[in-house]
Amino acid sequence: MPLYDFACDGGHRFERFVPLAQFGDAQTCACGAGAWRLVSAPMVVSDCIAPRMGADGRLHDSLASYRHSLTPEGNKKGERYFELGHNEELPSKTYDYDQKQRRDDIRAAMADVRNGNVPQPVFLED
Ligand SMILES: [Zn+2]
Repeated sequence: MPLYDFACDGGHRFERFVPLAQFGDAQTCACGAGAWRLVSAPMVVSDCIAPRMGADGRLHDSLASYRHSLTPEGNKKGERYFELGHNEELPSKTYDYDQKQRRDDIRAAMADVRNGNVPQPVFLED
């Protein structure tokens, strides 16, 4: 039975369940005044999302199918993926390293490249 909003001449507003069969019947407010139906927007819960890539490699425009792709049953790898909320960040891997040592390693590697001191590519034969 649908719930409708009404207003009366006395300025009251109220909600009332009205069977569809009585849709056209005149309604009366608790104060005794005649009431008229107000037009109100129904609450719509939408499943539509801006297309986004799911864990199954497909574009999804439905939240339900997108979320299904994040479950082990929903993607070929059989893995569980997680959505990020607005205030969440990916857990960052923290690498413990000495920054000076790291810079020295990078400089040494760049010097190796400059001097042609790099490993030769390995070509695999069929
Ligand atoms: Zn009233």
